[in-house]
Amino acid sequence: MMRVNVEEKLFQNRYKVDAGRPHIQIRDPDVCRSQCQAQQCTTCCPAGCYTAEGNGAVTLITDGCLECGTCRVICTEFRNVDWEYPRGGFGILFKFG
Ligand code: SF4
Ligand code: SF4
Repeated sequence: MMRVNVEEKLFQNRYKVDAGRPHIQIRDPDVCRSQCQAQQCTTCCPAGCYTAEGNGAVTLITDGCLECGTCRVICTEFRNVDWEYPRGGFGILFKFG
């Protein structure tokens, strides 16, 4: 049986950063810190863009985002994610192989 290494596959993608203009933002970091118990974005993002800092805070760095939309859908209780596609020319460039 052939095994697929996800990290190797992700490494084949390329990402063009739109410096200073993240296409996804956390609306209110205090909601993540003080109200969201599960912080599910930190475990569900396949690109690891969300990080639980250990002090309750959650940080988001969109570099490498796969534009899958999971974080927008999964933040159901607080709807605390502002989500847009990157501007044209920026963001993920998928490579398969
Ligand atoms: S799931 Fe939503 S509210 Fe919870 S930590 Fe993530 S962005 Fe914040
Ligand atoms: S859209 Fe997908 S890859 Fe991008 S930050 Fe959200 S969950 Fe992660």
